[in-house]
Amino acid sequence: MAKMSQTKELAVPTEDPDPLGKDPSEEPPSSRTALAKVLTVKEHLRRKKEYSGLIPLSEKSLRFLCDHYPQATPEDWSNWQWQLQNSICTADKLQNFLRLSYPEILAMSQSRAGLPLRITPYFASLLDREDAEQPMRRCVVPVSSEFVTCPGESPDPLGEDHQSPVPGLVHRYPDRVLFLTTGFCSTYCRYCTRSRMVGNTTKFRVSVKQWDQAIAYIDATPSVRDVLLSGGDPLTLMDSQLDYLLTRIKAIPHVEMVRIGTKVPAVLPQRITSKLLKTLKKHQPLWLSIHFTHPDELTPETSAACNQLADAGVPLGSQTVLLKGINDDVETMRRLFQGLLKIRVRPYYLYQCDPILGSGHFRTSVQRGIDMIQGLRGHTSGYAVPHYVVDAPGGGGKIPLLPEYYQGTQHGQIVLKNFEGRLFRYPDVQS
Ligand code: SF4
Repeated sequence: MAKMSQTKELAVPTEDPDPLGKDPSEEPPSSRTALAKVLTVKEHLRRKKEYSGLIPLSEKSLRFLCDHYPQATPEDWSNWQWQLQNSICTADKLQNFLRLSYPEILAMSQSRAGLPLRITPYFASLLDREDAEQPMRRCVVPVSSEFVTCPGESPDPLGEDHQSPVPGLVHRYPDRVLFLTTGFCSTYCRYCTRSRMVGNTTKFRVSVKQWDQAIAYIDATPSVRDVLLSGGDPLTLMDSQLDYLLTRIKAIPHVEMVRIGTKVPAVLPQRITSKLLKTLKKHQPLWLSIHFTHPDELTPETSAACNQLADAGVPLGSQTVLLKGINDDVETMRRLFQGLLKIRVRPYYLYQCDPILGSGHFRTSVQRGIDMIQGLRGHTSGYAVPHYVVDAPGGGGKIPLLPEYYQGTQHGQIVLKNFEGRLFRYPDVQS
């Protein structure tokens, strides 16, 4: 009953999910003050001393800000709406930051209605200007290989569109659903499983009406006890929109848990504001699955964002896609997973890259994924070893894969191989 009265008072968002929302309290500071002056490095440093935001401003970010946004202040930089409004969405803008390689130029000169380019200034500050092979650069800058389709690839390899009882909702497993809250992300990953729809506002536009249909479906389906909010990135929604969604979903008596899938702490840590933390805290228990790819993402800003979330009582897990030449060696994975534990994020899933169209340059063999687990298990803390899974094409769900630790049965004993490759026998019993 208490839950019912909570939703009765709830204001329905007047705007459809809109990343550059209309809440004046979240406007970038300089759009309010119309700051026109170009600041010197000295002035920037002085302002940095005065700056006391929740998310720190690293020396690297400050240097980037001075070089590329001389009219902006540290307060602008630390404002997530400013980050969104100043994101890099065209090749022209991108070449102010990076020396583009031929495959990058070729990709951006071709017109097609695919996954657009979008990179926050913060994430751009982490990219290598000269090295087109830098792992993080490869994740967000398109290359011509995206236009090459390999056998077995498809726009919707997981068959999500066929398991969608209402628009924007995927119901694959009996007790949980995937709720696509928005088609927008602050930064687009070139290997995105949902590249068929994210960033495509003509073909995939989410509305509050669509949210309400999805909520009605969950309400009418008592087997659903777990709702995963995804998209697009739900943390690019305005606080009021997020609050509306969480309040409505949490008011459904059979929903026991809500999870949010996001890449925001890695690409837009400035989004972790005290207002957002208050909203998330209000709707506990709430779990966050953060998409991390490479240890170089673990900056002072990201670390502060994750620690703030953990302090707010939000349990944090990570999801990582295995990517060729980006993170497919054991040492890189170990640095990533151990680094995540240091900022209170538990490595949860290591995904085999889904065969979306044009993903051949990102995909490794499945054996490579098994090798990753073999190189980690026993060689680092168990908490630093995620589940390696293949999301079965056609909608079969996540299938976990392990190295062959179980070797069979001999004389009534189980033969097991340990992390060093040594064999041991376990005296099994009949169940
Ligand atoms: S943040 Fe997630 S949904 Fe958005 S582009 Fe990256 S992988 Fe796709």
